[in-house]
Amino acid sequence: MPKATGPIVEARGIHKHFGALHVLKGVDLAVHERELVFVIGPSGSGKSTLLRCLNRLEEPSGGAITVDGIDILDRRTDINKARQRIGMVFQAFNLYPHMTALGNVALALRKVQGLPRAMAEDKARRALERVHLADRAGHYPGQLSGGQQQRVAIARAIALEPRVMLFDEPTSALDPELVGGVLAAMRELRESGMTMVVVSHEMGFARAAADRVVFMDGGRIVEEGQPEAIFGNPQQERTRAFIGQIS
Ligand code: ADP
Ligand code: MG
Repeated sequence: MPKATGPIVEARGIHKHFGALHVLKGVDLAVHERELVFVIGPSGSGKSTLLRCLNRLEEPSGGAITVDGIDILDRRTDINKARQRIGMVFQAFNLYPHMTALGNVALALRKVQGLPRAMAEDKARRALERVHLADRAGHYPGQLSGGQQQRVAIARAIALEPRVMLFDEPTSALDPELVGGVLAAMRELRESGMTMVVVSHEMGFARAAADRVVFMDGGRIVEEGQPEAIFGNPQQERTRAFIGQIS
C-alpha cells in the first residue's frame, strides 16, 4: 500500500557497479512532495546512473528505493506500473518523427494507460496546453524547434500524471536561444506543485527554482544544501572546485 506521508522518493544506500566499475557508492536521497532537487557534479560522477536507478532503468547492485511508497527494487513490484508514477525527460527527446506532437503525447496515454484514442487525444491536448504548445499539436517533430520538441517530451511525461518527474540534462542538446523556453516550462511545472529531480548545468535555474542542490562526485553525494549555500558558500573543497569551474 502506498504510504500517505514521507518522501515521494527515498533512495537509501544505493550502489551500482558496471563490471569492475563502482559507479554509485552508497547514495542516500530523499525527495519530498513538491520539492525540486537539483543534482550537479562533474561528468562521470554518476548523476544519470542515479536517476536511472530510481525507475530501475538501471538495476542497483545494492540499497533500497521507494517511490510514492512503492518498493521499486522488490521483485514482486510491477515495475511498468510503478514507472507510471515516475516521469522522465532526457537530453534526447525521442519523439516519433512520423507522428504529430499530439500523436506522440496521445500514444503514450494509449499504450501506458490503455485510453481510447479520443480520450487520449483530449488529455494530450491539455498536456500540450500546459507547455504552451496547443497551437503546435498538429506539427510533426521535424517542423518544431528543439526546444519545442523537448516541451512535447515534457507534455508526454506529465500527461501520465506522474508523482515525480526526473530530468536528465533536458537542455544540454539545445541551442542557447531555445533553453529559456524549456526552463520556463519546467518552472511552471514546479509552480504547479510537481515534485522534481533535475540534473542540469543551468545554475541560474537552480538558483531561481531549486529547493535543494545536491553535489555528486565520484559516485557519492559530497555536499547538499540550499542553492545559496552550495553556490555561495560551499563547505567541501571538491564542491568549491566544481562551482569555481562552472561559474
Ligand atoms: P554522469 O551522468 O554524472 O555524467 P553517469 O552516471 O552517466 O555519470 O556515469 C557514471 C560512470 O558510469 C561513468 O564512468 C560511465 O562511463 C559509467 N557508465 C554509465 N553507464 C554505463 C554502462 N551502461 N556501462 C558501463 N559503464 C557505464
Ligand atoms: Mg549524465
